[in-house]
Amino acid sequence: MKYYILFGSNEGDRLEILKSVFVDLKSTYGEMTFSSLYESEPWGFESQNNFMNIIFAFDSTDTPHQVLSYLQHLEFKYGRTRDNKLTGYQSRTIDLDILLCDSSIVNTETLQIPHPRLHLRRFTLEPLSELDSEYLHPVLKLKVSNLLNSCDDKSSVKVLMDLNQLKKYLLL
Ligand code: ADP
Ligand code: MG
Repeated sequence: MKYYILFGSNEGDRLEILKSVFVDLKSTYGEMTFSSLYESEPWGFESQNNFMNIIFAFDSTDTPHQVLSYLQHLEFKYGRTRDNKLTGYQSRTIDLDILLCDSSIVNTETLQIPHPRLHLRRFTLEPLSELDSEYLHPVLKLKVSNLLNSCDDKSSVKVLMDLNQLKKYLLL
């Protein structure tokens, strides 16, 4: 199965965390493709810090729940702290979400695939459309390119490093 994973970080040394996560994902799942690195405004809450976002794609025979628990292990490893007094969106050193897994639809308490807010967020749709604009959303039955065109989210999403710069940075 092909997994699309969204990385987000708006605290700490975001580039260092990205690099470490990249190395860990690669050693666990093997070869990966990825989007450019984007910088985006916080979505749904106020913060001084912008987010870095990137999508990683890899093939794995692991189940979606296995992949989720590995991602949660990485979130813990790289120091995601949850402020339990706050609800809703907040700053985080690292957020790893499963966006898509082939045309699978998963609807359990702990895991929903496609990610339920994928189509609402420009910072998800921009990198996804860079990777595969023809991808058909298995629930909405629309291509990623159409979702991006009709997305109401007008917040700023800019390329921070293109693929060449990113490959140099990750020493590939
Ligand atoms: P968000 O990513 O929406 O800002 P969190 O990262 O705090 O919020 O995620 C909260 C919970 O979302 C996780 O504990 C996880 O069980 C659940 N979840 C549901 N679907 C997904 C998904 N596709 N990818 C990652 N987590 C998911
Ligand atoms: Mg998350």
